[in-house]
Amino acid sequence: MASMKESVFVLTLTPYRDADLIVNFLSRDNGKLSAVIYRGRTLGKSSSFLYNPGDLIEIEYQVYENREFIRIENTIGIDLLRADQISYDQFVIHSYLIEIITKVSKPALPADEIFELLATISQSTWTEKNRYSLLLWAIWKVIKWGGYQIDFSNCCQCLQSSWKIKANHEPAFRKQTYSLLLETGRLVCGSCLQSSEKAQTVSSAMVKILWLFSRSENHEELYNDFPLNTINDLTQLLNNYMLRCYELKPKSLDILTGFLQK
Ligand SMILES: [Zn+2]
Repeated sequence: MASMKESVFVLTLTPYRDADLIVNFLSRDNGKLSAVIYRGRTLGKSSSFLYNPGDLIEIEYQVYENREFIRIENTIGIDLLRADQISYDQFVIHSYLIEIITKVSKPALPADEIFELLATISQSTWTEKNRYSLLLWAIWKVIKWGGYQIDFSNCCQCLQSSWKIKANHEPAFRKQTYSLLLETGRLVCGSCLQSSEKAQTVSSAMVKILWLFSRSENHEELYNDFPLNTINDLTQLLNNYMLRCYELKPKSLDILTGFLQK
């Protein structure tokens, strides 16, 4: 029985029996880990587990062969979310992302990219403007992590490119409205779309955002350059697509939708 030590994010806490807790963690190398914390709900004891979803902690644990659960020996808080320091909006977005990540992460499946995603989200300074682009960027990363990338390079029917690089090395985007085919993650241009197809509208500004993500992999340039409603519409569209790809029905979706429609 080997003892291991690593940093993990707390994902979920579920009360179990009278005083115990079942806790899910996200490990960079080992994906989702689960543990029963005996007497974890007893206050004021050395067994008390006082962390919250989203907290980054270090755990020492043992792995049993052929067991689904690990045995926690020790925990130390590293980066804890302070409820009094985050806004309600940040709380809504964070809770939603934690729920999504809990559902898409799997035991024994390394989760580097979504671990990094949680680290970035936790360390970001949230502002009135950037929280929407942070959410959009996070959803984009989760889609990519599952291998469900959207192919926005061309119309899947006439094959006309949606963008090209001009002589000055800047991209030029085709003036066209597309639709995202939810079944395939491909775009079809307005000239080719048949009304019977199940699709959602993608403007050329949204294509540009997807292009920026694919080039720079960060959200920083978005919130200065794009109107909030474009970012918001794209967030809803990618969110629908993500939920469909992974077949998810998150409990916190209604709260997030309310937040996006504000
Ligand atoms: Zn076309």
